Amino acid sequence: MGTRRIANWTKVGGMGLIAVMAATLIAAQDGAYEPNYAKIMLTPYKGSNVAPRLAAARHRFPLKVIVLEDGVYFNAHYFEIVKSACDAWTKATKNVAQGGVTLACTSSNDPKNADVIFRFGTMRDSFGFDGFTSEQGSFALIRLAVRDDGNLPVAPDRLKRIAMHEFGHALGIWGHSPNPNDIMSLDEDTRSISTADVNTLLIAYSKAP
Ligand SMILES: [Zn+2]
Repeated sequence: MGTRRIANWTKVGGMGLIAVMAATLIAAQDGAYEPNYAKIMLTPYKGSNVAPRLAAARHRFPLKVIVLEDGVYFNAHYFEIVKSACDAWTKATKNVAQGGVTLACTSSNDPKNADVIFRFGTMRDSFGFDGFTSEQGSFALIRLAVRDDGNLPVAPDRLKRIAMHEFGHALGIWGHSPNPNDIMSLDEDTRSISTADVNTLLIAYSKAP
């Protein structure tokens, strides 16, 4: 199981799913918000057909996160995992200016006016990835595979890790950190949002203190 990758957004480009990002790119400032990996997000990946980017992708806070209740995979336990991933980002950013990057998570069958829509499924549903985020214009759609490629349940702590990681993409970190301590790395053992994750997001939103 160690070889699977968290959704790699760089593979999304061929499907044209990220063409609608219109936010202004804000370059990292030298010496500010350290540590961060913002500059890496602005450097093209080897082999990627899409340039990484770092930009404020969502525009109102608290974000309205809707976990869709449709389908056979929804249950209250999975919802609580996604909610805890939301709360982790809110908590990690709460001490910054303008109230941080807050996420308000509810479950519903009605995704109207959502900023982020979450849907549970299998790896097949998420294009072979554990999690997959696509930009839909007014909202981001996150698919979370609760069943792995062997159709076995994914462990709760791993689901939370993937959910936190995908939220990072939905918020505007369109790339991956090379540091395994960051939730936006591809390291499957990372279980928390790092200072560098927070700083990188804050650079995008210019919310650093
Ligand atoms: Zn990713």
